[in-house]
Amino acid sequence: MLCTTILILVCMDKELSRGGASQRTERVSTGLFWALCTVSLMICSYIEARDTGTFLQYLIYVLLLSLLPVFRPAFSMPYFLISLAAQLCIMLSTEAPLPSIIFVFGVTAFCIAAAYVKYSDYMSNHLAMEQLSMLAEYDELTKLLNRRGMQKRAEILLDYTARVGAPLTVAILDIDFFKSYNDTYGHEQGDRCLRLVAGCLAENYRRKTDIVCRYGGEEFLIVFVGEDAGRSAENLLHLQKAIAKMGLKSGKPDFEKFVTVSIGAVTVQTQLDESLHIHIKAADENLYRAKNEGRNRVCLNGKMYTL
Ligand code: GH3
Ligand code: MG
Ligand code: MG
Repeated sequence: MLCTTILILVCMDKELSRGGASQRTERVSTGLFWALCTVSLMICSYIEARDTGTFLQYLIYVLLLSLLPVFRPAFSMPYFLISLAAQLCIMLSTEAPLPSIIFVFGVTAFCIAAAYVKYSDYMSNHLAMEQLSMLAEYDELTKLLNRRGMQKRAEILLDYTARVGAPLTVAILDIDFFKSYNDTYGHEQGDRCLRLVAGCLAENYRRKTDIVCRYGGEEFLIVFVGEDAGRSAENLLHLQKAIAKMGLKSGKPDFEKFVTVSIGAVTVQTQLDESLHIHIKAADENLYRAKNEGRNRVCLNGKMYTL
């Protein structure tokens, strides 16, 4: 029984701690596990208590359960209590002495507390890991993906568009005269401006297949799928409009009253095993053109668009 319990616990720990299991799966597996354990424990415990007058099986069992943080305490508690009630019945039926009963219950209470502490510790480690992966893939200031986070997702998207033959748009957006913005309003306001522009981007590109990333400084990268060049340009102009509509005072009022952005983009038919890098490079060349032509415009596949 001990070996089976350890085996089941280790398997379930691996499965559940991966975090992929739904709450329902977790509940069902917890229920099945406890039902199995309670029944087998009752039989073994009864035989042991009748033959030797000891409750070693039960004590090892609760101790074991407190060692592995497999189950949420809230899920486990009802089953723990059922096992305890079953154990009490066995102790009464074998006419166990009162000190034995108190001892068994004391150990159980201790183990429940230990399981709780272990589980909390496990969960905080789990959260720390999640936070670490957040830091590795997301930009601290804007909460958008960083380059690293973008790269992983973009590769999947590139492979998908190459396979289904859907067009892919890669766009680089750069805030115009951002240095002047910082110089005029200060670095903190500059950070605020970056956050607001990032929020606007995230708001406008919300599909599961859209990728929005802070590419560096005041540059952002947007990757989206399924629109032809004309529609993509319209899309990006709409984004430009949304940013202007936020009404952030420009750092260069002699250019425009509100903060503007320039966008360089390409809409391409991707090929298998192609690198995203070549499309970013082409989008960057278009951004350079948009800047040179006077800023506050979109240059897509070499063609210029303004609001
Ligand atoms: P252009 O229209 O040609 O893009 O001009 P620009 O002034 O926007 O471009 P430039 O590359 O000369 O300056 C970019 C500025 O962005 C300089 C840098 O201090 C600022 N910047 C980069 N990262 C951050 C940041 O995280 N926070 C703030 N506040 N400013 C930043
Ligand atoms: Mg720049
Ligand atoms: Mg700029």
